[in-house]
Amino acid sequence: MLRIPIGSICENGWLLNEQVEAAGLPLLAALGRKEEIRFVQPIQIRVVATRTGETIAIKGDVHTGVHLRCSRCLTPFDLDVRSEFSVTAVAALAESPADSHASETELAADEMDVLLYSGDSIDLREEIAQQIIMALPFNPLCKEACKGLCNQCGANLNRSTCQCKTVETGNPFAVLKNLSLPEKKE
Ligand SMILES: [Zn+2]
Ligand SMILES: [Zn+2]
Repeated sequence: MLRIPIGSICENGWLLNEQVEAAGLPLLAALGRKEEIRFVQPIQIRVVATRTGETIAIKGDVHTGVHLRCSRCLTPFDLDVRSEFSVTAVAALAESPADSHASETELAADEMDVLLYSGDSIDLREEIAQQIIMALPFNPLCKEACKGLCNQCGANLNRSTCQCKTVETGNPFAVLKNLSLPEKKE
């Protein structure tokens, strides 16, 4: 499950089309417990892997739905989350002579969007969880033009206006009413 068996990648590539619950991916399960975010759909995963020697090119597409809270007005809403990604998986050296060497390789791999694998399969769970996490908005908004809450009385300004709002900003054209224009003689 969510592993690419390297031996099974044939000339035409290897396909994965699977649905998993977010709770089945450790990183996402932890997120669901901590933050105000809930996965309302299983995660749909499509992956194509092609092989050149020991190097595996992976193209994927992940999709799910989450329930979260607007960062401005605090209203819960549903959001579609989708991400496309491509990574290259290379075989990690089975035995590295020095530990410092190994961590250098891992660092370089991190920077280049390269996944290291060992053994005869590639574990995709962490990559997929990270793709979902990166696709989540940092400041979720129920809609682009969300007006948020009144910072004085807490009213949701998408649904109602409040007294303090009119006092605070007023009508920007109101000031024109008090202008007497010289051309206008009555
Ligand atoms: Zn909002
Ligand atoms: Zn108010």
